[in-house]
Amino acid sequence: MHDANCLFCKIAAGAIPSRKVHEDEELFAFHDIHPHAPVHFLIVPRLHLPSMAQVQAEHAGLLGRMMALAPRLALEQGCRPYPEGGFRIVVNTGREGGQEVDHLHMHVMGGPRPWARG
Ligand code: AMP
Ligand code: ZN
Repeated sequence: MHDANCLFCKIAAGAIPSRKVHEDEELFAFHDIHPHAPVHFLIVPRLHLPSMAQVQAEHAGLLGRMMALAPRLALEQGCRPYPEGGFRIVVNTGREGGQEVDHLHMHVMGGPRPWARG
Protein backbone atom coordinates (compact mmCIF):
# COMPACT_ATOMS: atom_id res chain seq x y z
CA MET A 1 0.00 0.00 0.00
CA HIS A 2 3.09 2.20 0.25
CA ASP A 3 5.90 2.73 -2.22
CA ALA A 4 9.29 2.96 -0.53
CA ASN A 5 10.58 5.25 -3.29
CA CYS A 6 7.58 7.59 -3.32
CA LEU A 7 8.09 11.19 -2.15
CA PHE A 8 4.50 11.68 -0.97
CA CYS A 9 4.39 8.29 0.83
CA LYS A 10 7.49 9.46 2.73
CA ILE A 11 5.96 12.86 3.48
CA ALA A 12 2.69 11.30 4.70
CA ALA A 13 4.72 8.95 6.93
CA GLY A 14 6.73 11.87 8.35
CA ALA A 15 9.99 10.46 6.94
CA ILE A 16 10.48 13.65 4.89
CA PRO A 17 9.56 16.95 6.56
CA SER A 18 6.67 19.07 5.32
CA ARG A 19 4.55 21.97 6.56
CA LYS A 20 1.56 19.95 7.74
CA VAL A 21 -1.97 21.28 7.26
CA HIS A 22 -3.94 18.23 8.39
CA GLU A 23 -3.62 14.54 9.10
CA ASP A 24 -5.99 11.73 9.94
CA GLU A 25 -5.99 7.96 9.54
CA GLU A 26 -6.27 8.01 5.76
CA LEU A 27 -5.40 11.53 4.57
CA PHE A 28 -2.45 13.91 4.90
CA ALA A 29 -2.34 17.56 3.80
CA PHE A 30 0.71 19.85 3.56
CA HIS A 31 1.78 23.14 1.98
CA ASP A 32 3.15 22.96 -1.56
CA ILE A 33 6.88 23.72 -1.54
CA HIS A 34 6.51 25.97 -4.63
CA PRO A 35 3.15 27.68 -4.16
CA HIS A 36 1.31 29.02 -7.23
CA ALA A 37 -1.19 30.97 -5.13
CA PRO A 38 -1.26 32.73 -1.73
CA VAL A 39 -2.87 29.57 -0.33
CA HIS A 40 -1.60 26.35 -1.94
CA PHE A 41 -1.62 23.01 -0.20
CA LEU A 42 -1.89 19.38 -1.26
CA ILE A 43 -4.20 16.67 0.07
CA VAL A 44 -2.94 13.10 -0.40
CA PRO A 45 -4.29 9.72 0.65
CA ARG A 46 -1.90 7.65 2.76
CA LEU A 47 -2.72 4.84 0.33
CA HIS A 48 -0.25 4.88 -2.56
CA LEU A 49 -2.36 5.39 -5.67
CA PRO A 50 -0.19 6.65 -8.55
CA SER A 51 -2.87 8.90 -10.07
CA MET A 52 -6.54 9.34 -10.92
CA ALA A 53 -5.93 6.87 -13.76
CA GLN A 54 -5.77 3.99 -11.24
CA VAL A 55 -8.94 4.98 -9.37
CA GLN A 56 -11.58 2.26 -9.10
CA ALA A 57 -15.10 2.24 -7.71
CA GLU A 58 -13.72 1.01 -4.36
CA HIS A 59 -11.85 4.35 -3.98
CA ALA A 60 -14.98 6.50 -4.30
CA GLY A 61 -15.33 6.97 -0.54
CA LEU A 62 -11.69 7.98 -0.14
CA LEU A 63 -11.91 10.51 -2.98
CA GLY A 64 -15.15 11.84 -1.55
CA ARG A 65 -13.47 12.40 1.81
CA MET A 66 -10.60 14.27 0.10
CA MET A 67 -13.15 16.52 -1.61
CA ALA A 68 -15.13 17.02 1.58
CA LEU A 69 -11.98 17.97 3.52
CA ALA A 70 -10.84 20.62 1.04
CA PRO A 71 -13.38 23.40 1.84
CA ARG A 72 -12.73 23.24 5.58
CA LEU A 73 -8.94 23.30 5.19
CA ALA A 74 -9.17 26.08 2.58
CA LEU A 75 -10.97 28.35 5.06
CA GLU A 76 -8.56 27.40 7.85
CA GLN A 77 -5.62 28.30 5.60
CA GLY A 78 -6.97 31.75 4.78
CA CYS A 79 -9.18 31.42 1.73
CA ARG A 80 -12.11 33.80 2.01
CA PRO A 81 -15.63 32.36 2.09
CA TYR A 82 -17.70 31.60 -0.99
CA PRO A 83 -18.73 33.35 -3.19
CA GLU A 84 -16.30 36.31 -2.97
CA GLY A 85 -13.42 34.09 -1.93
CA GLY A 86 -13.30 30.40 -2.75
CA PHE A 87 -10.56 28.17 -4.08
CA ARG A 88 -9.51 25.98 -7.00
CA ILE A 89 -9.06 22.21 -6.86
CA VAL A 90 -6.72 20.62 -9.43
CA VAL A 91 -5.71 16.97 -9.83
CA ASN A 92 -3.04 16.68 -12.52
CA THR A 93 -2.99 13.21 -14.05
CA GLY A 94 -0.20 11.75 -16.20
CA ARG A 95 2.58 13.58 -18.01
CA GLU A 96 0.27 15.31 -20.46
CA GLY A 97 -1.94 16.19 -17.51
CA GLY A 98 0.95 18.01 -15.86
CA GLN A 99 1.58 15.42 -13.12
CA GLU A 100 5.14 15.36 -11.75
CA VAL A 101 4.76 13.31 -8.54
CA ASP A 102 3.24 9.86 -9.08
CA HIS A 103 1.17 9.68 -5.91
CA LEU A 104 -2.41 10.92 -6.27
CA HIS A 105 -2.73 14.44 -4.87
CA MET A 106 -5.26 17.24 -4.88
CA HIS A 107 -3.99 20.81 -5.20
CA VAL A 108 -6.10 23.33 -3.27
CA MET A 109 -5.28 26.92 -4.29
CA GLY A 110 -6.82 30.22 -3.28
CA GLY A 111 -6.30 33.70 -1.96
CA PRO A 112 -6.33 37.09 -3.66
CA ARG A 113 -5.87 37.05 -7.47
CA PRO A 114 -3.97 37.37 -9.75
CA TRP A 115 -1.90 34.28 -9.08
CA ALA A 116 1.52 33.69 -10.57
CA ARG A 117 0.36 30.58 -12.44
CA GLY A 118 -2.57 28.22 -12.78
P1 AMP B 1 2.03 17.80 -9.79
O1 AMP B 1 2.69 18.57 -10.90
O2 AMP B 1 0.52 17.89 -9.85
O3 AMP B 1 2.54 16.38 -9.70
O4 AMP B 1 2.40 18.54 -8.47
C1 AMP B 1 3.44 18.17 -7.63
C2 AMP B 1 3.58 19.30 -6.64
O5 AMP B 1 4.34 18.83 -5.55
C3 AMP B 1 4.25 20.54 -7.19
O6 AMP B 1 3.38 21.66 -7.08
C4 AMP B 1 5.49 20.68 -6.27
O7 AMP B 1 5.78 22.03 -5.96
C5 AMP B 1 5.07 19.91 -5.05
N1 AMP B 1 6.18 19.35 -4.28
C6 AMP B 1 7.24 18.65 -4.77
N2 AMP B 1 8.05 18.28 -3.76
C7 AMP B 1 7.47 18.73 -2.61
C8 AMP B 1 7.83 18.67 -1.22
N3 AMP B 1 8.94 18.04 -0.79
N4 AMP B 1 7.02 19.27 -0.33
C9 AMP B 1 5.89 19.90 -0.74
N5 AMP B 1 5.50 19.98 -2.03
C10 AMP B 1 6.28 19.42 -2.95
ZN1 ZN C 1 3.14 7.13 -2.66
